[in-house]
Amino acid sequence: MRKILIVGAGQAGLQTGLCLLEHGYDVTIMSARTPEEIRGGRVMSTQAMFHTALQHERDYKLNLWEGRAPRIQGLGVSIAAEDGTRALDWVGMLDDYGQSVDQRVKMAGWLELFEDNGGKVIFHGVTTSDLDSLTRHYELVLVAAGKGELVQLFGRDPDRSPYNTPQRVLSVSYVHGADRRPEHPDMDAVRFNVVPGVGELFVIPGLTLSGPCEIPFFEGIPGGPLDCWSDRPAPGEHWKRMLELMRQYVPWEYERFKHAELTDSQATLSGGYAPVVRNPVGELPSGGVVLGMADVVVANDPITGQGSNNASKCAASYLESILERGGEPFDSDWMRRTFERYWSVVEPATTWTNAMLQPPPAHVLDIFSRAERNATIRKRFVNGFDDPADFGNWFLDPELAERYLREVDG
Ligand SMILES: Cc1cc2nc3c(=O)[nH]c(=O)nc-3n(C[C@H](O)[C@H](O)[C@H](O)COP(=O)(O)OP(=O)(O)OC[C@H]3O[C@@H](n4cnc5c(N)ncnc54)[C@H](O)[C@@H]3O)c2cc1C
Repeated sequence: MRKILIVGAGQAGLQTGLCLLEHGYDVTIMSARTPEEIRGGRVMSTQAMFHTALQHERDYKLNLWEGRAPRIQGLGVSIAAEDGTRALDWVGMLDDYGQSVDQRVKMAGWLELFEDNGGKVIFHGVTTSDLDSLTRHYELVLVAAGKGELVQLFGRDPDRSPYNTPQRVLSVSYVHGADRRPEHPDMDAVRFNVVPGVGELFVIPGLTLSGPCEIPFFEGIPGGPLDCWSDRPAPGEHWKRMLELMRQYVPWEYERFKHAELTDSQATLSGGYAPVVRNPVGELPSGGVVLGMADVVVANDPITGQGSNNASKCAASYLESILERGGEPFDSDWMRRTFERYWSVVEPATTWTNAMLQPPPAHVLDIFSRAERNATIRKRFVNGFDDPADFGNWFLDPELAERYLREVDG
């Protein structure tokens, strides 16, 4: 039985660990927190996931909350006008629904499932020097520790990392009690509100500890009016401030949320980070090597809601590489090939996400405006959230976009 250690109990680490157990591997996960600590801790993400990523979970019966989480059937785009109205507003339908299960619910539940299924868990925040000795006891060490300190082991890849600084300031609240959405009261959809020059407000229907909820999520351009979280306000003040920003910049969302309340005392989050791609192989002083995965090696800004999707796709891709390796050594050449295979999946999401951080070029505004009257364009755009590779065929290139728009919209 091959012995594998995974550091980090998030989407990537737990999904990989649970799948490897199914294939008879001897897997240990090191987690900085216990399930109780995760459930009682702060929210970590908005974690909207789309069909392909959710299917990887279903394939291994990890979809424990599928029956309870709201089904995200579409994705709406609005652009705010100067006078507080919407210059544009539409919703496109996803071919298959997405879902967002609070990572506190999912990771705590998966960690318990992992132990129940015979996996070993060590509750310990791992340091670089721990890793150095651990590599001697395992055939493969995967570092799935998100954006924590262990990333220092993996050098930044400047050719794949166009940004050095955070491109958005993030702020999130999980709430109950918003009014139904008047535009489509019978359907749940992610909403993507753009406030030109200021930032974006996403709204994500999700499942949290206390049941279904909604998750408003501001992405603010640094230095602008949504960049106002450095004082780390207490949860009540945080939500009050988000509401005030909604009233000012996206009043149609304020109308729905003005009576909503936080789901719990840990339901807010603020921060930001620079998008980065890192070299996948970490070398330790004693000569041992470890392989980084998901956010450790490719951390994109959440503006396109892709990180958990990518973590799931990374887990699925690494799993295939591990299974195909059979009994051969997991050496650094194999690690590099394993990452490049995943990079071919995540590169389109990275390119698209980095493009979405820039002000929308004229051809994108044309796409959004024609989508308002053309359901085919809407559908293609929103289904790109599941399969970002399609954006390279039209959305990202002005000429390809124009050709496509001529075909479908005259
Ligand atoms: C505000 C926000 C909104 C987002 N919204 C979305 C969205 O809607 N859709 C989407 O797909 N993605 C979204 N993302 C991104 C997504 O949350 C991440 O990309 C995803 O969680 C990455 O998974 P991971 O397994 O790589 O890392 P993580 O989820 O960060 O998990 C890493 C785990 O490792 C643990 N750990 C860290 N250091 C150590 C250590 N030294 N020892 C032991 N354990 C350690 C951590 O405690 C954590 O449990 C969002 C992110 C943010 C910040």
